[in-house]
Amino acid sequence: MTKQIDVTEIFGSNVFNDRVMKERLPKDTYRALKKTIQEGLPLSLEVANVVASAMKDWAIEKGATHYTHWFQPLTGRTAEKHDSFISPTEDGGVIMEFSGKQLTQGEPDASSFPSGGLRSTFEARGYTAWDCTSPAFLKTDAPGNVTLCIPTAFCSYTSEALDKKTPLLRSMEAVSKQAVRVLKALGNKTVTRVTSTVGPEQEYFLIDKKYYDQRLDLIVSGRTLFGASGPKGQELEDQYFGAIKDRVAAFMRDLDVELWKMGISSKTKHNEVAPAQYEMAPIFSTTNIAADHNQLVMETMQKVALRHDLVCLLHEKPFAGVNGSGKHNNWSLATSEGVNLLEPGRTPAENGQFLIFVSALIMAVDRHADKLRASCGNPGNDLRLGANEAPPAIISIFMGEELTEILEGIAKGKKVANRSQSVLHVGVDSLPQLPKDNTDRNRTSPFAFTGNKFEFRMVGSSASISGPSIVINTIVSEALDEIATRLEKAGKHHIYKESEAIVRDAMKKHGRIIFNGNNYSEIWVAEAKKRGLPNIKTGVEALRYMATPEAVKLFEKYKVLSRMELHSRYEIYLEHYIKHVNIEAQAAVQMVKKQYLPAVIKFTQQLAKTIGQLKVAAGPAKVQKELLGKVSGLLESAAAKLEVLEAAIKKAHAIQDVEKRAEAFRDKVVVAASDLRADIDALETITPLELWPVPSYADMLFKL
Ligand code: ADP
Ligand code: MG
Repeated sequence: MTKQIDVTEIFGSNVFNDRVMKERLPKDTYRALKKTIQEGLPLSLEVANVVASAMKDWAIEKGATHYTHWFQPLTGRTAEKHDSFISPTEDGGVIMEFSGKQLTQGEPDASSFPSGGLRSTFEARGYTAWDCTSPAFLKTDAPGNVTLCIPTAFCSYTSEALDKKTPLLRSMEAVSKQAVRVLKALGNKTVTRVTSTVGPEQEYFLIDKKYYDQRLDLIVSGRTLFGASGPKGQELEDQYFGAIKDRVAAFMRDLDVELWKMGISSKTKHNEVAPAQYEMAPIFSTTNIAADHNQLVMETMQKVALRHDLVCLLHEKPFAGVNGSGKHNNWSLATSEGVNLLEPGRTPAENGQFLIFVSALIMAVDRHADKLRASCGNPGNDLRLGANEAPPAIISIFMGEELTEILEGIAKGKKVANRSQSVLHVGVDSLPQLPKDNTDRNRTSPFAFTGNKFEFRMVGSSASISGPSIVINTIVSEALDEIATRLEKAGKHHIYKESEAIVRDAMKKHGRIIFNGNNYSEIWVAEAKKRGLPNIKTGVEALRYMATPEAVKLFEKYKVLSRMELHSRYEIYLEHYIKHVNIEAQAAVQMVKKQYLPAVIKFTQQLAKTIGQLKVAAGPAKVQKELLGKVSGLLESAAAKLEVLEAAIKKAHAIQDVEKRAEAFRDKVVVAASDLRADIDALETITPLELWPVPSYADMLFKL
């Protein structure tokens, strides 16, 4: 029997959250810290000392012996170096110590993190600085091994961001500032801050560990590089929302408990479309907390899976022929008063404000579709985007018919019927009461309005949500900046007319980005081309758009990323792509040489032997001969393709220029590896099961 748990009791029990702070900090310290958190003011060392001491006591009571500055380098993962609290005493013992300085600042030797030329190795120092807007928490890595984790930003000696958190925090500042300006111009006198909120839905696969352990491709690259499709895939649509198997349910329960302890509000869990595919979604939160939490979600999924002899695959496309995994970034803006700015609302005045914010999104996404696409450009996503289950590589917005009609009506300057003189007419009097739950969902859109938020579905399942969130926040900042300037110029008396004009202009200039139809259809590809929308098919191509002069201007204007930071990131991501594809290619070569070819050769020996025996005994051994011919043909072909692949890897490595090298890996190495796969997969379908050296798709996807 599993123990009964009290969720309200365990939720956040490993978090140094507001409740704990209130309980354990002196009143004035608590107030000073809250002010820092809410208003972004600097924290005095005095306050930090008191907080550190309370945090340490709390952590030790809960079993912690170590602390770590937990940060998010450009690897896309998290980093931690554990320091114990011990400090020697004169009598040969130790006391447990943790100072304000240790809490607020760290200096990890950072020479081995990617920096893209921002920090040469001899100046290896990187600095971590406490992000007190994301609460400290405890992580348990093995029973009894508890570590106090302090979320931190990671910068170079010269203050350049070396991580994903720093620009995310900067982009949140930017969007807050511009959104507040817009609200003030619209007459809101009380709002002080606007935060971007995110709820990331996380898709993943689970397979039995015993199969995983037999596949080098899964172990080193996270996806299957070979594997013939089994007789069954996802065509029966019997997995999506299907009943959850006991073994998976046990995993999910454990996962929930672990996440809840860390204050992560795991809310929804279900079977996804592909066999062995699942999803979890938390309740949305402030973007930087959501980003921290999503990292913990991925890490915890992988850890908890192992406890159940399962392996969690977070790769975007672990199996060919069935759906890949993504991350749906649900995004919105919330005011300091708790109002969701993308909530259509019930009264016309609110609708007017809503339409202004929706217009900002239309402007932003149309102008900067290339950067949004770039933010999703990782090697795994190349295999997913554009495949028939995934959003295509073309960015468009789904608005739903009703909202599109309203926006188009305003664009055409349709005279708005005034319901009452006192009611504002920002072109909003014409608004029907929008249904609160916009059920008119379009599952094929990469950027969909879903009732009171936008859902960005292009993000890869293994990626940090910081990148896409940074881009959305920044491009929306620019649009809101422009809108605020127009509203401020128009002045109070012309605010409604100007608002209407803003919506109209947004639709006229950028309405082409709205598409409510089927994004998977060929017709859309042609239509998008006609509309002039970019169709950026690969990550390598997309990444370039992060560092164009136009991108530099935008990100510098809103102080999110500097030219140097953008260029170094571009370089790091290209290098990452190259390394990733190289690992895959090397694994493919090894598997073919050491596993597949020997197995097939053995099969040909068996066949040859049988044929020889049969000849002596009786008949002509027709079937065996035919099979031997077929197997030998494929074997020869595979051996030749293996040579092509090895040569392609060698040639690509020799290219000096990093962009050209990345292109060579994409155009030559990836292609050669997939050609080779075709032969191996064909061989799999005719080789006896007992000779095949690795588990099949059917094993991995259905034996759970
Ligand atoms: P779906 O039908 O797409 O699964 P849900 O209503 O379950 O939609 O929501 C998906 C995610 O969107 C959840 O993580 C939820 O918390 C998040 N979400 C809801 N409202 C907002 C918001 N205002 N801002 C950001 N995310 C939100
Ligand atoms: Mg969703």
